[in-house]
Amino acid sequence: MMKVLVTGGAGYIGSHACKALSKAGFTPVTFDNFSTGWHDAVQFGPCVEGDLTIRADIDRAFADHAPAAIMHFAALSRVDEAMAKPGLYWRNNVLGSLNLVEAAVEHGCRDIVFSSTCATYGDQDNVILNETTAQYPINAYGASKQAIERMLHDFEATHGLRHVIFRYFNVAGADPDADVGEFHRPETHLIPIVLDAVAGTRDGVTVFGTDYPTPDGTCVRDYVHVSDLVDAHILGLRWLMDGKESRDFNLGTGTGFSVREVIDAARRITNKDVPTKVGNRRAGDAVKLVSGSVRAEEELGWQPKRSDMAHMIEDAWRWHQVADYQR
Ligand code: UDP
Repeated sequence: MMKVLVTGGAGYIGSHACKALSKAGFTPVTFDNFSTGWHDAVQFGPCVEGDLTIRADIDRAFADHAPAAIMHFAALSRVDEAMAKPGLYWRNNVLGSLNLVEAAVEHGCRDIVFSSTCATYGDQDNVILNETTAQYPINAYGASKQAIERMLHDFEATHGLRHVIFRYFNVAGADPDADVGEFHRPETHLIPIVLDAVAGTRDGVTVFGTDYPTPDGTCVRDYVHVSDLVDAHILGLRWLMDGKESRDFNLGTGTGFSVREVIDAARRITNKDVPTKVGNRRAGDAVKLVSGSVRAEEELGWQPKRSDMAHMIEDAWRWHQVADYQR
């Protein structure tokens, strides 16, 4: 079976991608430094423990497994951390990706699917963000991902490394079979924090800012189910394998939910209380990030199936209740 190197394969999105790859007939080879990933999440293929900032580690993965393609998820991805430690983000995300693409070229691997972010667009109020929208990141996380996008263009022009770039909006939910799901330590993401509050493992949720220029004063995000997201990655991989041109796609639903709307949905779906309090704005947060998804639908044939708020919270909640490795 064709091997695909999955950097960050032990993380939230990477582990779901490994499951999708294995279902689609590929062998996912996880490459992870386990700084934010989990050994229990590696269930669908072999694993190389290593760090992208160490070139010898990534060379070992290529030498041992000769992957035909790469899915590159490994990155630090917390806006608050990026604001506090920009150097960490530039070193880990950009240098790590540089090592990866240089190694890919040297080992003759020519196809990469890259996990980028809507944070590359920055804060552009009341705009539906399309692939043609100019990118003005407002934090080191978005800037590091934009730099990697640019790196991929340069490596294609000179070395023929072909890419599909996916810019994610807010990823949510969990594998509907609850084999893998979302878990970070510390947890910073809204939906798992809300579910911790539902489960009683945290006192409540602090809403970061209620004075934003949105209908209820809280930030608006476009949430996509992780299963739909990884389906797009399989389509992106096949796109490259079919010899099509390098391309970038936004992955969102075109519908925004405010922080308060997410919390209300969680209350409704779990039938439990979610104590909330109002806090300050979080540094680096954009007011509203909502995607257009026309290109992915029209060109890739991507059709989100579970990206309604009810499915995302139901699947996340199911996983939250059965997952062992979060305890
Ligand atoms: N948020 C919040 N309280 C929390 C965590 C997040 O109000 O405890 C807000 C955050 O400010 C943002 C939205 O929820 O507006 C989504 O944040 P998350 O960290 O889940 O994803 P991000 O948009 O940063 O990728």
